Amino acid sequence: MDPFVFHNPTKLIFGKGQNAALSNEVKAYGNKVLLVYGGGSIKKNGLYEEVVQQIKEANLELFELAGVEPNPRLTTVRKGIELCREHNIDLVLAVGGGSVIDASKAIAVGAKSEADIWDIIKKKAQPTDALPLGTVLTLAATGSEMNAGSVITNWETNEKLGWGSPFSFPKFSILDPKNTLSVPEDQTVYGMVDMMSHVIEAYFHKADNTPLQDRIMESILLTVMETAPKLLENLDDEEHRETILYCGTMALNGITQMGLRGDWATHNMEHAVSAVYDIPHAGGLAILFPHWLRYTLDERISRHVQLATRVLGVDPSGKTDQEVALEGIEALSNFWSSLGAPNRLADYNIDNSQVDKMATLASDRGKFGNFKSLEKDDVTKILTAAL
Ligand code: NAP
Ligand code: FE
Repeated sequence: MDPFVFHNPTKLIFGKGQNAALSNEVKAYGNKVLLVYGGGSIKKNGLYEEVVQQIKEANLELFELAGVEPNPRLTTVRKGIELCREHNIDLVLAVGGGSVIDASKAIAVGAKSEADIWDIIKKKAQPTDALPLGTVLTLAATGSEMNAGSVITNWETNEKLGWGSPFSFPKFSILDPKNTLSVPEDQTVYGMVDMMSHVIEAYFHKADNTPLQDRIMESILLTVMETAPKLLENLDDEEHRETILYCGTMALNGITQMGLRGDWATHNMEHAVSAVYDIPHAGGLAILFPHWLRYTLDERISRHVQLATRVLGVDPSGKTDQEVALEGIEALSNFWSSLGAPNRLADYNIDNSQVDKMATLASDRGKFGNFKSLEKDDVTKILTAAL
């Protein structure tokens, strides 16, 4: 494995009843809090009142930014930054899914930086500081609650870009499974596909001697695969919600990638697709990942074989590595389809008219993919196969 330093400063407050910890947490950061949330799910499920009540108990002055979009937009981030500056906000509190948290990271960093936030996201400028950020997660999916990553869309330029900095880790994140009970079936499925994709991105690496990392990743994948059908059978089951919530965080809080570099090309291609079509992130991943896997079969097939045999239930006896790997890809694709995830771009009415644009967007920062390096021509082939 590669040498590594692991430092994850986010305080994780996990489990049933943990919403109650909020008022004590927010007190530590000053007097004024900007509550950031999405399109209203927290008003429907009662979490908004609970959060406001706790902020009152902590005697903090409350400001709000509502309406963060799924695939959060730069325009909304800019509104948040203005609010922070205008009211001298002390703490940004994100209550929502990955989109709300990602937008809040950009707001927290942007509010304390001289540089423009889009220049920071484009890596033309370096952040130097951030407002403290706390989160209350409502959707198990991205891992954003315990990592420094954020993905922001600029609709003017059709760019959806991932960025991150040591300043964008949340100070604390509250993960109470109760908050995820109201997540509808489709978003529950997308969340599980997203967390599995994060693990699979990391699984396709080129480091040697990673037995523990591999077993950790396989455990997360197997746990999601075991739990997913049971949860979909009964979306009100708090125990299964709790298991999936924990999986989502463990899938992308850095633990799986100690001593190795994951690939991440599929996330990059998906960002290009949703920058043009605004589709759900994990819907795009469910479509693209099997095609990326087929495209990379020649690239260290032992990783494919290990995933197929240890996780995807493929019996290797009497088969070539290629056959085992292909059977594994089929099994993964079938599993996601069985949950109700899409498997063709046509499922979102995407035809070949914008393939060139998406391939350009995915590759305009140069070659990408740490397991297999891709460029525009490769993306065109993968997207075309996924139509
Ligand atoms: P999301 O975009 O935050 O939310 C999707 C939908 O679910 C929204 O309509 C939201 O409604 C609803 N929702 C959330 N919680 C709910 C609840 N408890 N009950 C009912 N509805 C609920 O979904 P996400 O998958 O968490 O985040 C996706 C974004 O994260 C994408 O932009 C993706 O690119 C990014 N991402 C980030 C990372 C990272 O590490 N930072 C990793 C992967 C992906 P409301 O708006 O009404 O709340
Ligand atoms: Fe993701």
